[in-house]
Amino acid sequence: MTTDLELAPPHPAVAEPGPGEAFTDHMVVMDWTEADGWSAPRLSRLADLSLHPGTLGLHYGQVVFEGLKAHRRADGTAGVWRPRDHALRFRGSCRRMAMPELPEDAFTDAAHRLVRADEGFLPADGSRSLYLRPLMFGSDASLMLRPSRTYRFLLMAFVTGGFFGDGAEPVAVHVSRDHVRAVPGGTGEVKVAGNYAPTFLAQRAAEAAGCRQVVWLDAVERRWVEELGGMNLFLVRGRGERAEVVTPELTRTLLPGVTRSTLLTLARRLGHRVVEERIALDEWRAQCEAGVVTEAFACGTWAVVTPVGRVRDGDGGWTVGDGRPGPVTTALHRLLTDLHRGRVPDEDGWFHP
Ligand code: PMP
Repeated sequence: MTTDLELAPPHPAVAEPGPGEAFTDHMVVMDWTEADGWSAPRLSRLADLSLHPGTLGLHYGQVVFEGLKAHRRADGTAGVWRPRDHALRFRGSCRRMAMPELPEDAFTDAAHRLVRADEGFLPADGSRSLYLRPLMFGSDASLMLRPSRTYRFLLMAFVTGGFFGDGAEPVAVHVSRDHVRAVPGGTGEVKVAGNYAPTFLAQRAAEAAGCRQVVWLDAVERRWVEELGGMNLFLVRGRGERAEVVTPELTRTLLPGVTRSTLLTLARRLGHRVVEERIALDEWRAQCEAGVVTEAFACGTWAVVTPVGRVRDGDGGWTVGDGRPGPVTTALHRLLTDLHRGRVPDEDGWFHP
């Protein structure tokens, strides 16, 4: 079972890898069968897979994944950020897709193995992180429309800076009116492969309009702001220490981001009132025009904290605040990256060396 992977030639390196393409050297593999459960993890060189053309996950999308990061701290230690929270979300995604749940310990153990093997890709100055991508798919060679009876788990990594480059330049976002991302009873609150390809047309439309991300509205009333293509959204109401930090509540049609949860804690710690509530798109606009909403930002493992300067909706749109990164966004970004780098005490035990 293991030999095909270990003997496969390394995947040929790309000369000039783009974002998401600078893979590290190794991967971790586990297999699941009904009879034996999970195999022991195997660390091997990153290599092509050999798959039967009838692999069930390829056809029916029985595929779940995660995205988490490893950082190098200022004291030289490498570690993984909130691995247990990602492991828990991964379990939930597996459950939703009728897949066997990978125990948290197996998930975090795989992450630690890979980071130990590839930590040479993490420079001492912290300018690069590793984005870890756990993936699991139904691996039966069967086209029967039923859950797979065997599964493969893979963990790979690539080297990354910030999502939109390293600077905190504000981005524009584009409201999708033609498509929806998630419906009640669907899969919006889990991280399954099938949530993403259907968003590519909307992402293309956003880019054609000069924007970086899609703003997703709820599917029922097309009124409530849910999240962005691969990030959660926050607004700031008011200014200074009394500013409120607001984010859409978890209605089961948006992803409960780990970064979202981190920032809710950090915003509270900075003394802000924190609000999780439904946010109407009209209100977002009206409150920006009235000067009540002063800042907006996107957040996620990849994006960290990225200011949103402008919203496009059809032919119109509006500017958030003065379109520049605001003080609350900047303070949260700094605090989060200081925690990643170990420059401030990690009171919550989020960093796992
Ligand atoms: N929403 C969606 C749709 C995402 O894909 C992601 C990235 N996982 C997020 C939000 C942000 O989640 P996290 O902070 O856990 O990366």
